[in-house]
Amino acid sequence: MSTVLQLSQVTKSYGPSAALDGIDFSLPDDAYISLLGPSGSGKTTLLRVIAGFEEPDAGSVLFHGKRLDGVEPHDRGIGFVFQNFALFPHLSVAENVAFGLRNRKVDPVTDARVLAKRVQDMLSLVGLSGFDDRAVTQISGGQRQRVALARTLVTEPKMVLLDEPLGALDANLRGRMRSELKIIRERCGVTFLHVTGSESEALAMGDLVLVLDRGRIAQAAASDVVYNSPATASVARFLNCYNLFAGDVVADAFVGPAGRFPLNGSRRKAPQPAYAIRYDRVSIRSRDAVLSDDEVRIEADFIASEYSGAAVNSFFALDGGHIFEVESHLSHARPPAFVEKDRYALVWKKEDALVFG
Ligand code: ADP
Ligand code: MG
Repeated sequence: MSTVLQLSQVTKSYGPSAALDGIDFSLPDDAYISLLGPSGSGKTTLLRVIAGFEEPDAGSVLFHGKRLDGVEPHDRGIGFVFQNFALFPHLSVAENVAFGLRNRKVDPVTDARVLAKRVQDMLSLVGLSGFDDRAVTQISGGQRQRVALARTLVTEPKMVLLDEPLGALDANLRGRMRSELKIIRERCGVTFLHVTGSESEALAMGDLVLVLDRGRIAQAAASDVVYNSPATASVARFLNCYNLFAGDVVADAFVGPAGRFPLNGSRRKAPQPAYAIRYDRVSIRSRDAVLSDDEVRIEADFIASEYSGAAVNSFFALDGGHIFEVESHLSHARPPAFVEKDRYALVWKKEDALVFG
């Protein structure tokens, strides 16, 4: 697979703090890439540097092997779909889409028939045929999203950057637009770099997932690798499916305020020690249940549970107040509820824990 975009040691600071702190990655051509990170981690800054709205303080951005320094945004061949869509409210759907072509500095399309045909092709690609004359103020959020995408794609970019493209949509529509974006991307055959703060969106959509943590790439890997082996405790925290404990590795155990967890040997190097166990790797047992040699337990008081159809998520309070979550997958009916404030043993296998440090 050929490389479309390569960043080396890209930094960008606003004042004393670095928004981007030595970014290195390369992206394959013809792929869907997710960029996941919490608010303030530098996602928008990174897109703006790639698009050319900001110059990096240091480092290089190579697009199809060529340095982009000094190349104007509209000459880069890189499309940008803004977080709030940024449509022109006084223009119709078709006029919004045509705008990108008509106002191009290089090679503007002035022939009305050519322009109309290109606009029609784009509206059909995003599933909006027949919406030409509608005002963009009188269509739904999902339709506005498609207009924004069509307006970008009509310029035939060689790569598309999308800044939280589903953030403005309601939850139901967000789910449907995920698969639509994937389908549209496959039809165009160019790389999409999709920024999101939602771990489920990033994992569901990306052929490759980049995780941004305080201006650095903490991990770049396939979804299942990120989910099953987060590279750092911070990545595990963003994923929202791990219980994390602070503490230290002492001999053959991880020791912290929550207790002493015997280890099975495997651990990954990290500056900040942490112990992580996935919500769905824990079973809830009575306090007198006998453990086998390969198991670890902790005691906690049941607080509440949430039923979501395929699973029940139960919340427990550890001594000291730390909340511990357990996800039990269901194949049939909802199991009987636990009793509030009753104490249980939460049990997992040593080998299922991730140990950092
Ligand atoms: P994200 O999109 O992940 O929420 P941003 O890239 O917007 O993150 O911001 C990263 C950091 O850079 C934040 O600390 C933010 O306050 C800062 N920042 C971003 N843009 C500017 C700007 N134009 N001026 C000053 N600080 C900025
Ligand atoms: Mg942002």
